Amino acid sequence: MRVTVVGAGIVGLATAYQLMTAGATVRCLDVGEPMAGRSGGDTRIFRVAHGDPALVAEARRASELWDDWSTTAGRTLVGAERAMVSGPRVPAWAEAMAAAGAIHRVVDGVLHDPAGGVLDLVATGRFLVGAVAPERGEVAALDGDGTVHLADGGTERADAIVVAAGAGTPALVAPLGIEVPAALEHHARFTFAGPADQPCHLDARADGDLASTYQHRTRAGHWAVGGHLPDADTAWELGADEVARRSREAVVDHVRRVLPHLDPTPVDELRCTPMRGAGDGVHRARAGAVHVVWGDNLAKLAPRIGEVVAADVVGDTPVGGGGRDHAP
Ligand SMILES: Cc1cc2nc3c(=O)[nH]c(=O)nc-3n(C[C@H](O)[C@H](O)[C@H](O)COP(=O)(O)OP(=O)(O)OC[C@H]3O[C@@H](n4cnc5c(N)ncnc54)[C@H](O)[C@@H]3O)c2cc1C
Repeated sequence: MRVTVVGAGIVGLATAYQLMTAGATVRCLDVGEPMAGRSGGDTRIFRVAHGDPALVAEARRASELWDDWSTTAGRTLVGAERAMVSGPRVPAWAEAMAAAGAIHRVVDGVLHDPAGGVLDLVATGRFLVGAVAPERGEVAALDGDGTVHLADGGTERADAIVVAAGAGTPALVAPLGIEVPAALEHHARFTFAGPADQPCHLDARADGDLASTYQHRTRAGHWAVGGHLPDADTAWELGADEVARRSREAVVDHVRRVLPHLDPTPVDELRCTPMRGAGDGVHRARAGAVHVVWGDNLAKLAPRIGEVVAADVVGDTPVGGGGRDHAP
């Protein structure tokens, strides 16, 4: 089976890798560098903790697959740091973990997730790019019969297409009748020098201008902190520079008051264009031979997304159009 995967971020690469493992012949195309869109940067948080038992179960399976990938890659892709969750979401998240049978503990109102840790995106990217060998190419349009129209005027035909094009997905799949939310916002995360031996931490307690924060180790001796500003401060129309400026102000203020062990001058900044209001969750749809996957906070689930999408593609006989399926 010949499959074209559009997008060489972590989701496209994970899906291409799982498809190859399942015996498919895969061509993975990206208009730019692999792992440079929403998958840019050095680290992410892996956590089993979620607010929905179904997502907890998906993350548990992802954890197993991360271990498999680590074994194949010959290095640990998810660290042993663990993760903590605090704030008003703790009771519901603890309930979701209990319902999914995931090991957890709540101590003094803080949820501890022993399977959580720091996801090494650089090593993951090296592993996946080495295995998949994505090619440079911009996809201009897709047909439900598996035809791929390239921006350079070329066309090719695949038995199936997987679209994992991040911010490029809505425009590519809209002509096929698949609606992917297109509204984006700006986000920025900052790196500070200082001790970095704590668990990853998601904190939904509001602080200053921030509705919630997340933080975790990045490279040795460095700690990343991201915060969520109100919608009005992250609006697309404000532009990336202005949102980064507002985020920096709020995060530095947070670090000065709440994390005094860190040097409050950011040494690095990572920008992103998430889907507005998406939160945790994976969404899939299909039109004929074209399979589409989208969502937010997808890095931690990538091996599981790849496994599910690959099974869907390989298990399917390509059909002539119209089929549609939404599933977590
Ligand atoms: C600062 C920050 C912090 C985050 N924290 C976490 C976290 O802690 N845990 C977590 O799980 N997730 C986190 N995320 C989210 C996570 O990183 C993303 O959800 C994930 O990386 C998305 O991967 P993707 O492959 O879907 O998209 P992308 O990485 O954006 O890949 C899509 C690719 O498609 C390509 N493309 C687009 N259009 C076309 C086209 N027409 N033709 C060819 N190629 C095309 C793009 O060039 C791009 O490379 C964070 C993100 C950021 C930026």
